[in-house]
Amino acid sequence: MLVVKKFGGTSVANKERIYNVANRCLEDYRAGNQVVVVLSAMGKQTDVLIDMAKDINDKPPKRELDMLLTTGEQISVALMGMAFDALNVPAVSLNAFQVAMHTTSVYGNARLKRIDTERIRHELDNKKIVVVTGFQGINKYDDFTTLGRGGSDTTAVALAAALHADKCEIYTDVDGVYTADPRIVPNARKMKEITYDEMLDLATLGAGVLHNRSVELAKKYNVPLVVRSSLNTSEGTTIKEVVKVEGMLISGVAAEKNATRISVIGLEDRPGVAFRLFNLIAKANINVDMILQSIGRDGTKDISFTVPEDMSDDAVKIIEDNMDMLRAHQVDVNKDVAKVSVVGAGMMSNPGVAAKMFEALFGADININMISTSEIRVTVLISEKDTERAMRAVHDAFGLED
Ligand code: ASP
Ligand code: MG
Repeated sequence: MLVVKKFGGTSVANKERIYNVANRCLEDYRAGNQVVVVLSAMGKQTDVLIDMAKDINDKPPKRELDMLLTTGEQISVALMGMAFDALNVPAVSLNAFQVAMHTTSVYGNARLKRIDTERIRHELDNKKIVVVTGFQGINKYDDFTTLGRGGSDTTAVALAAALHADKCEIYTDVDGVYTADPRIVPNARKMKEITYDEMLDLATLGAGVLHNRSVELAKKYNVPLVVRSSLNTSEGTTIKEVVKVEGMLISGVAAEKNATRISVIGLEDRPGVAFRLFNLIAKANINVDMILQSIGRDGTKDISFTVPEDMSDDAVKIIEDNMDMLRAHQVDVNKDVAKVSVVGAGMMSNPGVAAKMFEALFGADININMISTSEIRVTVLISEKDTERAMRAVHDAFGLED
């Protein structure tokens, strides 16, 4: 059996934890399996590196920033290789260049395109444990790229798909996927199973456990995914195509504070306006999430949308640079907003989920700014300070507690 095991930053934060990871990998190895280990940077190393960069230059060139950030994962894999050596286990560490993990060119937010498997296969055939850097790739210029914060999960799933692994395990500092973040909603419950689609929405909307693109890839290539703790042996959560119906309408509540609302006011009310606005934003590689357009009045209309906070300055600048072309009057920015979502495959066949969520928010006296929905999700944009209260109110309303 070939297993891909990914360990996050907290799981390799110090010597003791590095040996803990090595020993967990050894269990699989000694049982006769081929083991590929994907690691994140130790502890908060990526944040430390970003601070170092900003100290030198508050707008560091994205290429140089990626060059710096990729060192974090290289430290982890090299140290892990040394730990295996100390345990007398044959192992080899590889970075994205050595494996050849090819990505698109965009620094800081690259997407994996293709992974060469020859080198890894060769090392596995030589009975080695292969330790690979997460989060990084190389582009067509042979430069290092990174996959976006939390991207090591995506590396692991992509490797599992490329190697046709039998299992992909994501080890983290929580026991699995919960109905809500247990630090905010203390009576949240751990789920045994969840579908790819539900997990994708939860991950995208801020559940934090998994990088959303890793779930996208897992679904596309049908990679069996397990999220479990590196600190204990509890069973974790399995993510797959179909799960046993637990009679649950909603599977979880998620919140995302990393959101900014941008409103473009006084746009002309005629065809092509939304196209021009969002085309500009798309060309700058900025992800737009919720979109709300007002009814036209007196020949003008307003369009509001949300973007990740770290992209909002770029987005505002592009709009301001193009005010004439867009014929807009004003841009308004609000960073103190958060998205709260309920997700569940069960809502497809059950009306009333949105109403129930709005009732819970009303009960907690929380105002809704924007709303968006899909077949399996309802999201509201609210004021950031209300996030925790909103999560608890909604979680209670759907009876998700233990
Ligand atoms: N070290 C990177 C980060 O902190 C990637 C990861 O941990 O998945 O974002
Ligand atoms: Mg993570």
